[in-house]
Amino acid sequence: SNNLMAGKRGLIMGLANDKSIAWGIAKACADAGAELAFSYMGDAFKKRVQPLADQLGVETLIDCDVSDAASIDAAFAEIEAKWGKLDFIVHAIGFSDKNELRGRYVDTSRDNFLMTMDISCYSFTAVMQRAEKLMKDGGSALTLTYYGAEQVMPHYNVMGLAKAALEASVKYLAEDLGKDGIRVNAISAGPIKTLAASGIGDFRYILKWNEYNSPLRKTVTIEEVGNSALYLLSDLSSGVTGENLHVDSGYHVVGMKAVDAPDI
Ligand code: NAD
Repeated sequence: SNNLMAGKRGLIMGLANDKSIAWGIAKACADAGAELAFSYMGDAFKKRVQPLADQLGVETLIDCDVSDAASIDAAFAEIEAKWGKLDFIVHAIGFSDKNELRGRYVDTSRDNFLMTMDISCYSFTAVMQRAEKLMKDGGSALTLTYYGAEQVMPHYNVMGLAKAALEASVKYLAEDLGKDGIRVNAISAGPIKTLAASGIGDFRYILKWNEYNSPLRKTVTIEEVGNSALYLLSDLSSGVTGENLHVDSGYHVVGMKAVDAPDI
């Protein structure tokens, strides 16, 4: 444990269970001395998130559906009433109809296109509109993205477009909020077996492919993402904004793998 986050208060959004990337980040922040609040979506998740909150001594648990402006307003009103300010925020939220996370991108429906963009991209901007007002001493914001924004990955489809737009929004938000000392960054995580990932077709194959073809020849853990998040959320990264940090065992730099990969 360390003191990198001592005296800092942060909201972690997107905790579903102990496999969530948000959980890896929450553990790293708590270990570094941060005071945390969690938001989750709907009563069904509360019973999974409550024991995780208890484990880290987190007292503030907020129900927040980011597709609903009133729900986001209520969540930030609760943070304001409790703390009066905010130092950091983690947006680890994404969603698309799993029937469209397989097959061809070209078959994406308009309804799912708009819903995917709303929950997986716009929600980060919507959250930052509220967070800006509470980050009175500056702050650090982090969202999660994936390589499918940059290159075509199997089955990622409309989610790849939403992540591309999310990555662009990180840059625009970084410029808008930089003058208030608010930094905005993304982590592009390698594939990890989570609830959200289980909706993606052939996900086991994608995991194996990354294991065999990345420079480190392994997949990443939520703890590794958490430790990199700690850097971006703490003052260690005070000179960094608008960045997309790849925590993917180096997969994104490989054009073609050398011949040591076994058959998969
Ligand atoms: P997860 O299922 O644990 O987390 C996704 C979260 O999004 C859940 O907590 C869910 O409740 C929440 N969510 C969905 N719709 C919501 C809504 N309308 N309002 C509020 N919350 C909502 O899965 P995860 O893999 O930890 O996902 C976290 C983030 O990491 C996502 O943005 C995902 O795209 C991204 N990511 C995941 C991987 C991976 O391989 N798992 C790789 C790169 C990026």
